[in-house]
Amino acid sequence: MEYEQYRRKTCRYCDALLGNPFLDLGAQPLANNLPRREDADKPEFHCPLAVVKCPKCHLVQLTHSVPAHLMFDEYLYVSSTTQTFRTHFAEYAADVRSRLAEKEKPFAVDIGSNDGLLVSCYDKVGMRGVGVEPAKNLAADANKRGVMTLNRYFGEDTVGEIVAQYGKADAISANNVFAHIDDIQSVARNVRELLADDGFFVIEFAYLVTMLEQMFFDMVYHEHVCYIGVTALGFLMERFGMELFDITEVGTHGGSLRVFIQKKGGPRKRTSIVDRFLREEKEKGCLSDKVYQDFGGRVMAFKEKLNRMIREIKSQGKTISGYGAPAKASTIINFCGLTPQEIDYIVDDNPLKQDRLVPGRKIPIVPSASLNEHPTDYVLIFAWNFAREIIAKIEPLRERGVKFIIPLPEPVTV
Ligand SMILES: [Zn+2]
Repeated sequence: MEYEQYRRKTCRYCDALLGNPFLDLGAQPLANNLPRREDADKPEFHCPLAVVKCPKCHLVQLTHSVPAHLMFDEYLYVSSTTQTFRTHFAEYAADVRSRLAEKEKPFAVDIGSNDGLLVSCYDKVGMRGVGVEPAKNLAADANKRGVMTLNRYFGEDTVGEIVAQYGKADAISANNVFAHIDDIQSVARNVRELLADDGFFVIEFAYLVTMLEQMFFDMVYHEHVCYIGVTALGFLMERFGMELFDITEVGTHGGSLRVFIQKKGGPRKRTSIVDRFLREEKEKGCLSDKVYQDFGGRVMAFKEKLNRMIREIKSQGKTISGYGAPAKASTIINFCGLTPQEIDYIVDDNPLKQDRLVPGRKIPIVPSASLNEHPTDYVLIFAWNFAREIIAKIEPLRERGVKFIIPLPEPVTV
């Protein structure tokens, strides 16, 4: 069968056999592999994009695994591009620093350090930061700006190298990458190896329950392999001799968790928040199947509704553009089958994305100035998690009669 070589038969956390998906978004191209305009006619890699829950540890995960080198060798997402992220990581570094107050110059390793934003924040709050980033272009860029970055995957060799050069880590962080790693068991093992006995591991990820409750199905794309809840994460850490001791809720990506983990029996006291999350996940039905089946049904209804709204606009002879070309835009566009017939162009302020096309449907991505030069009747905000920031920025367009569409949690015109 086609794609069979990519199919995942067992759970990534606990090795139990996986059943049938509760959500199937069809065979999709890779959301962050944006073809260049001149490559518009070249075939793109596609793979099924479907989500299944493990019956044993309850980890929600993709049914297929795309080889990492197809996704991460060149990466166009740069975290420093928005003020929101800059503020966020400054606060994050301060949080990590405050939990290591007794140490003089704590050593922190950031896994999947992107363009080095968090590592530079660690340096600023009196820590020693090192980033690990597999994308060549991002690692090179970070090093050029003086942010110490190893251009590697986070493997056993990398850990050995770091320990030999810097010693064990007082803090290890992984933000929005922990859920992107297929071989998560080896990452857990390597984190434990790298971590000092009194250190901690902190990860931030888009929270499964928020995705289910707020209908954020567009966070499903191939790179995003796991959709993490506290129950499943606790299970994984337990298996590798670690334990959760604290959780903070954070706002980026519309509802994320920052979870703190230490070696089992470590010095930090477990807060009651951890137990509250475990209890709530159980009460909300996250350990049974119905919640997931309902979610799958609601996603199908969303597709109908957005397509109906777009058909109506087009039938009036009106035009639509898009705002923001994050990975989630590719998921909505490919799932709903939107093409340049419906969406004239998408603006994005990341220069790395300009002059490229949305994967699969080939909608052109252009600088945001295009919106002033050639405004459309409607602007569909694909980067809806920054909707307020974006609408404030393009507010003057409203006087020219432009309307905005926010797709999720439910498509609305404002
Ligand atoms: Zn499992």
